Amino acid sequence: MNSRHSAPTPTSADDTRRGAPSRLVMVGGGPRAIGVLERLGANAGVPGTAERLAQAPLHVDIIDPHMPGAGRIWRAEESPLLLMNSRAADVSIFTDETVEAEGPVVAGPSLAEWADGIRRGTIAAPTAGTTRLAEIHALGPTDFASRRVQALYLEWFFGQVLAALPSTVSVTVHRTTATAVRAGDGPATWNVELEDRAPLPADLLLLAAGHTDSRPNAARHELAAFARRHGGTYLGPSQASDAQVELLGAGQDVIVRGMGLAFIDLMALLTEGRGGRFVPAAEAESAGADAAADLRGRLDYLPSGEEPRLWVGSRRGVPYHSKVRDEGAPTGLGELVHVTPANLRALEDEHGLLDFRIDVLPLIAAEIAHQVPGAPLAQEGEEPLAWLDEPLSDLGATTLPEAAQQATRDAVVGHIEADLRDRIGGEVTAARTLFQLLLRLHGVLVDQLPATRVRGGARGDYPRWWHSLFSFVDSGPPPHRLQQLLALERAGIIRFLGPGLRVTADETSGRFRARGATGVGVEAGALVDAFLPEPSLQESTNPLLRDLVTGGDAALGRESAASPGALDTDARHRVIGPDGTARERLWAVGPWTSELPIAAFARPHTNAPCHRRNDALARELLETALSGNAPRPEAEEPEGGEADRGIPVLAPVAVRAPHTPRLGVLGPGKIGSALTRTAL
Ligand SMILES: Cc1cc2nc3c(=O)[nH]c(=O)nc-3n(C[C@H](O)[C@H](O)[C@H](O)COP(=O)(O)OP(=O)(O)OC[C@H]3O[C@@H](n4cnc5c(N)ncnc54)[C@H](O)[C@@H]3O)c2cc1C
Repeated sequence: MNSRHSAPTPTSADDTRRGAPSRLVMVGGGPRAIGVLERLGANAGVPGTAERLAQAPLHVDIIDPHMPGAGRIWRAEESPLLLMNSRAADVSIFTDETVEAEGPVVAGPSLAEWADGIRRGTIAAPTAGTTRLAEIHALGPTDFASRRVQALYLEWFFGQVLAALPSTVSVTVHRTTATAVRAGDGPATWNVELEDRAPLPADLLLLAAGHTDSRPNAARHELAAFARRHGGTYLGPSQASDAQVELLGAGQDVIVRGMGLAFIDLMALLTEGRGGRFVPAAEAESAGADAAADLRGRLDYLPSGEEPRLWVGSRRGVPYHSKVRDEGAPTGLGELVHVTPANLRALEDEHGLLDFRIDVLPLIAAEIAHQVPGAPLAQEGEEPLAWLDEPLSDLGATTLPEAAQQATRDAVVGHIEADLRDRIGGEVTAARTLFQLLLRLHGVLVDQLPATRVRGGARGDYPRWWHSLFSFVDSGPPPHRLQQLLALERAGIIRFLGPGLRVTADETSGRFRARGATGVGVEAGALVDAFLPEPSLQESTNPLLRDLVTGGDAALGRESAASPGALDTDARHRVIGPDGTARERLWAVGPWTSELPIAAFARPHTNAPCHRRNDALARELLETALSGNAPRPEAEEPEGGEADRGIPVLAPVAVRAPHTPRLGVLGPGKIGSALTRTAL
């Protein structure tokens, strides 16, 4: 299929002169880890560091059972119906001149530019099948790409990163799972135990394990057992492409808890994924170009007859807000005047701590009131951002079931239609300003307000409540998905249960019972939890994560008090041990740590936190490797010899200048073809 290139490998004579490379092991090869690897390569070429590395080179072992670059979340094989929630022009994994980092900028294409490069033949197309290629060819800057296309972009990025590494940094990929970390008993600091082969020694260890799927808690066990006892179905929290949607039958009533992005994915899989089609609504078609704003983009749904009927509700009772039209366009948003480092400092107590609800939330509310035209003000005694967080809180309970259903339906539909008007219709400046302001506030809080600076930790709802509000306003679905939701409601495939949803399991009827705060309710044989599992280390399905916090005082890490379920790390991403001290040479990043949630890639030209953090971490990794590692004797061959070595994917290349990506030695099987796909 593809040719194999063998770039020059260092000889053992070179190794003797230089000393054996120090070994950095990365557990996880998802976008975050590869972002750090990219920064590591960029910084490794900087004069001074480059010369030091020539004397003491670095070898990086990446452990991940999934394809590096894309990792477990981004899957080239999944349904094209699963979409990203950013436009292609707003997705980039490369640094740019706005990034305030010490390492050099290495610019590269956004997702949209990458697709355009493939279209024009300046970037080699991935060999992942013609339908994916057709998707890439059709992808415009304002389109929302499928997540499988993003997976290919991330895989390609990994190929670029490998090809750009200087000769002093080499990489081996191990397609397996790390199960535990032990203190090294020889020259290595750590030994990383692997599922199916000998442990890997590490001088430095970076854990980038991503999302922590959790074992079902007692309540979920009970729901699953209830469903089994009564011949029903319960689908627990998961990524939509892992949900067993085939268990939901045509015409079956299904209760869905959650109206976030996992629900939108589920909706797509159960409708278009079952052969239904969305078409422009007849009234919008006949009105033509003069259609009123309300009709623009309106859709009708042509069912296939294979769809279940979804009864959907949540705490808020409405879906996330639509993405805004031209979300990056100028709005006149000024400098922040309330949420400033000085104002935060002024509110600190004698221990340097803040209370999120008492100190920070009023500043955020004041900032929104100051910056966003027409932003409502909270009533006396009201939570300052209740109007934003709970838009249907005024909807009262109705005793008559039909009246409750109609009132709830009208309120939810009215909310979605108003949202589409405000964010996509005519004058969208206020919505765009709010969108941009929350993005900016999130960036400031990521930098200024680590969870450890918040008094009372999780009690003050930070970061969870804040992140939920931020996602609700800024991280919603593409607008056409909300048009689809409205069309499905009109077609009778979706029914709204409204806010304040409660679900119980009724032993008498053997069915799940759902009831919203307005009184609308339903009984059904199937229940789906349409959200991601809550983070948990103790209950993670990931053996390494459980191991890290098991063993009391002997454990390597501990759960964060400020972010329950997450691994405690400090501002430099060092893992904090049970005694509160930072572990040497052990770092962790990503959504499973106490780091505030940040994306692994970002809109270009926004000085995104992921790039700044990856750069600082990469520099620390390099500096630690170099300062702690004078040339030293060749490391021992791992047990199991050749077979245990993993797949060296890149023999080092001589220069770091951008060039056509090259692959070193390819391993056989899936990784061979996958790496060929991306790196050649
Ligand atoms: C369904 C879903 C959709 C999303 N959509 C978007 C979006 O549209 N836009 C956006 O900006 N963000 C999105 N995100 C956020 C997502 O968190 C980031 O995009 C990104 O994937 C985080 O990167 P990461 O490398 O930290 O974690 P991950 O992507 O989770 O990668 C972690 C990697 O570590 C590996 N790993 C874990 N444990 C081990 C072990 N013990 N041994 C070996 N390997 C291990 C995993 O296999 C995985 O490949 C989405 C998240 C989900 C779950």
